[in-house]
Amino acid sequence: MTLQGRRAIVTGSNSGIGLGIAVELARAGASVVLNSFTDRPEDHALADRLAAEHGVPVRYIRADMSKGDDCRALVDQAGGCDILVNNAGIQHVAPIDEFPVEKWDAILAINLTSAFHTTAAALPGMKARGWGRVINVASAHGLTASPFKSAYVAAKHGVVGLTKAAALEVAGQGITVNAICPGYVLTPLVEAQIPDQMKVHGMDRDTVIREVMLVRQPSRQFATVEQIGGTAVWLCSAAADQVTGTTISVDGGWTAL
Ligand code: NAD
Repeated sequence: MTLQGRRAIVTGSNSGIGLGIAVELARAGASVVLNSFTDRPEDHALADRLAAEHGVPVRYIRADMSKGDDCRALVDQAGGCDILVNNAGIQHVAPIDEFPVEKWDAILAINLTSAFHTTAAALPGMKARGWGRVINVASAHGLTASPFKSAYVAAKHGVVGLTKAAALEVAGQGITVNAICPGYVLTPLVEAQIPDQMKVHGMDRDTVIREVMLVRQPSRQFATVEQIGGTAVWLCSAAADQVTGTTISVDGGWTAL
């Protein structure tokens, strides 16, 4: 399977799942734009390393996905794209009545509204070329809920809704829009939740991982960033031409429960 000649943008891709997806797209031959809100030498070095490893053009563009103008500027600066992966996301865990308003606003902006802006900016070029893939990284929390994650669950359910609406708008034009719904993947975002969960549940690290995080993941195994990346590459293949407006769970059976 080759994605040679395809241009991809992956938001929030200097770590975790976004980086895993970027690596798999580059391995499949796509040129890739990496993104985050920082502009450090190591961000650009990461792009150079990926380019050297996979022999494809890779560059890093700073853009803050909490800001609509930045989201649209990212697509413009990239010169459009054939594959748009909306992956940037943050998390905060607290009961609703103690949930900081600024955290709610940031989670909705970065996890949901950014995908509206980037999709709006990317679709005209995809329509003109008659081919496109929009891949939204939602979550098992786009399909089910957990307590203390109100903003995240609301945002991810919103991403699934946006995915369906966008898919219907471009159906039959060579463009598909889908959401990947990972269960738990051990990335920096999940690492950061462990201390909070230890506090909330009064448990040690191993017990939180086994009894809280993976308790709803029947495989009792984390999904890997390579598996999420492979799913994204498959969504870009001709085999997935008629897969649109849907969710693909990579969650060890979580949503089958
Ligand atoms: P991560 O913290 O490793 O990566 C998040 C990425 O988003 C980073 O590159 C970060 O720099 C970027 N980011 C954060 N704020 C940004 C902003 N304002 N502008 C631009 N970039 C920004 O986390 P991850 O686990 O790799 O999460 C990636 C996506 O996968 C998120 O949307 C998350 O909700 C989703 N997800 C993760 C899991 C999991 O278990 N790790 C499960 C389901 C869904």
